[in-house]
Amino acid sequence: MTWHSGSVLPFASLWHTLQRLMHLNAMRAKELPELLVGSWQAPSVRYADLLFNEIPPGTARQRAGAVHTNQLASAMGEPAHAFEWSHLGRLPGAARCLVTPGFRICPACAAGGYHSALFSLKALDRCPIHRCDLISHCRCGASFEPVLRMVGATHAGQCRCGQTAFFTSVTCRRPTLCADDIRPMRPVAAWLEGICTLARPSTHRKHTQEAHDQAFLSALGAWSAQLGFCAPPFDQVCCAQEGFSTTTISADVLRAPSTSGLKVVPIDDSRFTTSSKDSMWLLTEATVAYRAMTRHIRRHLGRRSERFALQFLQHPDPLAMAELMRAQPQAMVAFAELVFCFSMERFAMNRRWPYRQALDATQRVLQDGLEDPWLAGFSGPEQELANSARGWLSRQVAAARVTHAWRRAQACAIDAMRSGLADWRSANQQANGYPQTSGGLAEEWNWHTAPPPFQVTWAASATRTGLRFACYPATTRIDWSMTSSTKAERRSAWSKAQAHRQSRLEQIATGPTLSWTQRDGWRAIDSTRTEQSAAKLHVLFLPLGERISVWMFRSSVGYTLRVVDAKLEVSAETPRQAFSAMREALSMYQARYGAVRPPNPACKRSQGDLSASRRDLVRWYEAHLAQIRYKLGFWRGAESFNQLALGLLQVDRRLPAEERAKVWLEV
Ligand SMILES: [Zn+2]
Ligand SMILES: [Zn+2]
Repeated sequence: MTWHSGSVLPFASLWHTLQRLMHLNAMRAKELPELLVGSWQAPSVRYADLLFNEIPPGTARQRAGAVHTNQLASAMGEPAHAFEWSHLGRLPGAARCLVTPGFRICPACAAGGYHSALFSLKALDRCPIHRCDLISHCRCGASFEPVLRMVGATHAGQCRCGQTAFFTSVTCRRPTLCADDIRPMRPVAAWLEGICTLARPSTHRKHTQEAHDQAFLSALGAWSAQLGFCAPPFDQVCCAQEGFSTTTISADVLRAPSTSGLKVVPIDDSRFTTSSKDSMWLLTEATVAYRAMTRHIRRHLGRRSERFALQFLQHPDPLAMAELMRAQPQAMVAFAELVFCFSMERFAMNRRWPYRQALDATQRVLQDGLEDPWLAGFSGPEQELANSARGWLSRQVAAARVTHAWRRAQACAIDAMRSGLADWRSANQQANGYPQTSGGLAEEWNWHTAPPPFQVTWAASATRTGLRFACYPATTRIDWSMTSSTKAERRSAWSKAQAHRQSRLEQIATGPTLSWTQRDGWRAIDSTRTEQSAAKLHVLFLPLGERISVWMFRSSVGYTLRVVDAKLEVSAETPRQAFSAMREALSMYQARYGAVRPPNPACKRSQGDLSASRRDLVRWYEAHLAQIRYKLGFWRGAESFNQLALGLLQVDRRLPAEERAKVWLEV
């Protein structure tokens, strides 16, 4: 076989070298059978893809094969390393989005008898050696196919039309470029060595995958820096170094994981082996992370906030909700939790509001729609480490996704307070992914599985020394955790509250008052002096459905009960006697004077100052709110509630009073 040994330049493509070999020896592809390996189902090969030079899975019927480069090298009398990076088959699946589908050619390199598979990297828009544009198509319009076919005419060395030659009869023997000229290609190869350790999201969902790829490709420089790769050899300026969050773990720690105190999900696919004890939840990293987050919210952020969430669900009013959130931090947490859980968990409403309600047997399986990360084909640095590395990586991804979703919910609540209008429309985005671009075919996702920009994208590098995980964007932490108090703080808070109660009592316990005892009946006396002791407010339920607030305190007589809303008190030796005397006194008082409590002026809607048209407007608003809630409910009505509240704000602010109601009718 004719071959000028030592004429394979560094990083020369297998495709180019093979064509030179075939041209020199006037060979056809089918004369190379011993160099071609097929799959065991289809040992006879029909074609080989020289870009990745591998046997793709599931292609037995098409009879795809690959070139055995070591055998080729020995047949040509070249060292095996001459074919280093002669194809891109070493790139993991996660990095395949970096590669253009066909080959690209630098005309200047081609004139020098050189071509590299590395030209197919999308990030290289110019030849690193000559700084001229790379071309992917011949002038005839045909693309440069990276395929070696066994049948059909061969056009080794040129495009089918003959207009683009990959080498000349001279450069075919020995390229005019020398190894020194190729030096600018070295950084590209060095960077690719790092890329070989890459792990990234991989999913069969087309649009989701595209969104992740786009987020990765648009900031290759920044990702490379975060993952500790060599600097990428591109001209493009890598801006946006911020907004990443990275975590590393060394291989030693992975080898000997300390699992004490950690809930560790077994590595095998436990999706179908959930224990009967806890069948409500899947045992996956994503679910464990989500449950840990909801538990944290429930215990440390939103204690006693459930009533606000229930109030929101029962009386959805975007304006009133925002106002309540401004006044009460717990309402803000309740709103964020409501949006967060609904957007993450398929059956959140069955489980959480109210919390721990009795679930019947049919509802035992509330299994969430959270997915573990897509780590297709991920293998760790060593087989031994692969499983623990995979576990660690899934945990990182799950935590990053759950955290991002929670921050998103927090932002919803903060927006509501800022704008004065609660808006939970984004919670409905869980089912409709890309209505426009996918031609109406929506991909179903929730806040956990959503693609960028709604959710983080991530990348990791797995080397022998350890793993490094980076995710983007890293949102700033909004700390809503309730302050944990010391005993001294709790004591001072208690004594402050006690003093407050005492002063409230002293305000009403002045002047003459009615008193009643079984022995003496009704008497008018001076109010009993309170002693500096624990005064406590109680509520008494009376036969007519009335509720009366009474203070109980120690006095010189024993125990005294004092009605808050009326000048009336009783005293007795024990609390029990005091309460029964108070009941008796109150029922007599009711029989004689009617209701004990005067009608509370604050309870009446203070609409006296509102103009008639404004009042109409508010009535219209309330009627519409009720209607939407009845027709659509809280979640499905999100859009309508939002429109209605916006409409009210517009009408209310910009028009003279007389016009408002009229315009409102047209809205
Ligand atoms: Zn070039
Ligand atoms: Zn052509």
